Amino acid sequence: MPEIDLEQEKQDILAAYKGMLRAAKHAKKDTETKKRIKTAFDVAAEAHKDVRRKSGEPYIFHPIAVARICAEEIGLGATSIVCALLHDTVEDTEITVEDIERIFGSKEARIIEGLTKISGVVDATVSLQAENFKKVLLTLSEDVRVILIKLADRLHNMRTIGSMRRDKQLKIASETLFLYAPLAHRLGLHAIKSELEDLSLKCTEPEGFESIQNNLKKTEEVRKRFIRKFSSPIKKELEAKGVKFEIKGRSKSIHSIWNKMVKKDVPFEEVFDLFAIRIIIDNEELDEKALCWQVYSVVTDFYSPNIDRLRDWVSVPKANGYESLHTTVMSPTGKWVEVQIRTRRMDDIAEKGFAAHWKYKEGKGESQFDVWIGQVRELLENQEGNALDFMDDFKLNLYSDEIFAFTPNGDMKNLPNGASALDFAFAVHTQVGEKCLGAKVNSKLVPLSHVLRSGDQVEILTSQKQRPKEDWLSFVITHRAKAKIKSSLKDDKREVAAEGRAILEKEFKRLKIAYENISLRQLQKYYKVLSDLDLYYKVATGDINLTHLKGFEVKKGVLQPKKTIRKRVTSYIGQRRSGATDKPASKKQALLIGDNMEKLDYTLAVCCNPISGDEVFGFVTISDGIKIHKVNCSNATQLMSNYAYRVIKARWVDDKNIAFLAGISITGIDDMGIVNNITQIISNELNVNMRSISFESDDGIFEGSVKLYVHDTVHLTDLIANLKKVQGVTKVERRDN
Ligand code: MN
Repeated sequence: MPEIDLEQEKQDILAAYKGMLRAAKHAKKDTETKKRIKTAFDVAAEAHKDVRRKSGEPYIFHPIAVARICAEEIGLGATSIVCALLHDTVEDTEITVEDIERIFGSKEARIIEGLTKISGVVDATVSLQAENFKKVLLTLSEDVRVILIKLADRLHNMRTIGSMRRDKQLKIASETLFLYAPLAHRLGLHAIKSELEDLSLKCTEPEGFESIQNNLKKTEEVRKRFIRKFSSPIKKELEAKGVKFEIKGRSKSIHSIWNKMVKKDVPFEEVFDLFAIRIIIDNEELDEKALCWQVYSVVTDFYSPNIDRLRDWVSVPKANGYESLHTTVMSPTGKWVEVQIRTRRMDDIAEKGFAAHWKYKEGKGESQFDVWIGQVRELLENQEGNALDFMDDFKLNLYSDEIFAFTPNGDMKNLPNGASALDFAFAVHTQVGEKCLGAKVNSKLVPLSHVLRSGDQVEILTSQKQRPKEDWLSFVITHRAKAKIKSSLKDDKREVAAEGRAILEKEFKRLKIAYENISLRQLQKYYKVLSDLDLYYKVATGDINLTHLKGFEVKKGVLQPKKTIRKRVTSYIGQRRSGATDKPASKKQALLIGDNMEKLDYTLAVCCNPISGDEVFGFVTISDGIKIHKVNCSNATQLMSNYAYRVIKARWVDDKNIAFLAGISITGIDDMGIVNNITQIISNELNVNMRSISFESDDGIFEGSVKLYVHDTVHLTDLIANLKKVQGVTKVERRDN
């Protein structure tokens, strides 16, 4: 172990602390506050004094860094700095909440308590994320600083994730993507959201991340030149008009470039020039809106705008507080360029979130934030049933952009993008939703399912006779509407079920069957329904036809399935079972699973079709044993963060006797003989076993799909490289399913 210079370390800690204080220059600086922050530092330093982080540095560097993020990147004040310095003390050291209360006060004690509680639910190894997410949001109603400090904590942990174990890294990264990045987005912390996403990607897709990063560096000069040329006439004109401003070119984040490349299946070259030009206005005039439109006018004097892509969040800010004027204009090179126009205040808020509002007291941001807290609280209170459903609905609401629509009186309703007239009706009032017949959008009659657009004026038509229908669920997207429709359908179902019960009782009487639980269970089993309620309901609606009762026999007044029925059911199950197992037995040798790296039984997940050499993990399913997924499988994030306790380590062992089924797709220019060349390469040169091959040709372009057995990723990569050399072939790619 290298010797540690403790004296030097002490000085480094002090320097970090002073750096944090300098970064907090906006916070109140009276003697009292200074003393409080210093005390927090002393308490934390003493409490963590014998502990080091995984990287080897003294633990206290972490709380100092978190406090610095709170001050510098989120713009929080002295109380938050104090709490950030102390954030891990109650959880990890002897210090208690009572100690904090005694030394600092009740406000600080409550925040630290909140932070400790969240840690308990969010960071536990057994993490059921959906439940936790709800709890996290519940704490929002107490003090939002808890969430902000937690975000700063997560950001610092992500920045220093390199020294963690690989499986922990993956878990933390997927949690970050699943939970913290959307939270940051919803709170309007744009810079932090992007960084969290980029850091997660760097962890889960290191190669993809690095290649985009390198490509961005290589193309930086080209972008800069373009921006200079594009901005130069605007600059001159704005200067002549006496506008103070700064122009920046903003390239997209690595994570969003990656998403585009994967989703649209395009190479970097087709997305690298996606960037926005931002004009930040520094004049200290009060009429910010007029200033923004004045700049808009200058921009569009030089470049013609695409009217469809004008976004005015200056007149109506987004619910997370975002204000900006966006336009997309045609550049002289024939490329569309997005131009974002905003004042310094708006830019601060867009980057740092609502906390920056506190700096601008006259802003309308605080009330927007209250509105948001109100929405979250409502969501939580309405919630019944499954936490995962809730999570899905809520995430939809978190991610999608918003639209705003108006009632006939001009009241504005914020709705997620894609919301229907029926969503709007439920947003107005539950009873308006339940009695909704149709709607008039901008005076035109439309069906309930009509998807609204921003700025629509919506008049809801109701009828006292109307009731929620099952199919309504397919055209609402807001959590509120879904929950209300579901609960109303449940009430309806009970009424209908009562009829079903009466029918069934009558039929039993006719067949002289005692109306007993044993008989009912037999019916449930046979018709595969889960509850009495479902059974009655299906009898009433005719989905269950009672003539089938003839297929049963009555013994001692109790219903018994006849032999034939039982047989039919079991043979059906038998078929499904045998169909699912066609993996060669030799494969079972190729993986080591779990903490002890044992050879356990497993099957390969069909969603990502891993092969030897892929980075993989095991997932313990409820009924199907251990499934092996690729680390970058599209389901991985969800599995790892929702069911972390069912995820186990897995590693391939080298074994050339094993063959994996892999798919590749080949595209190229049609040419007689090309198929022959390809199959030659596959089967002769590389001695690979092909399972299926199919080619389609259209207008001189052919697309081929080949399934073949390979040993591992190296083998497959070699093969792909060789196929790319075939004349006429333009693209060869691995296909996961
Ligand atoms: Mn921490």
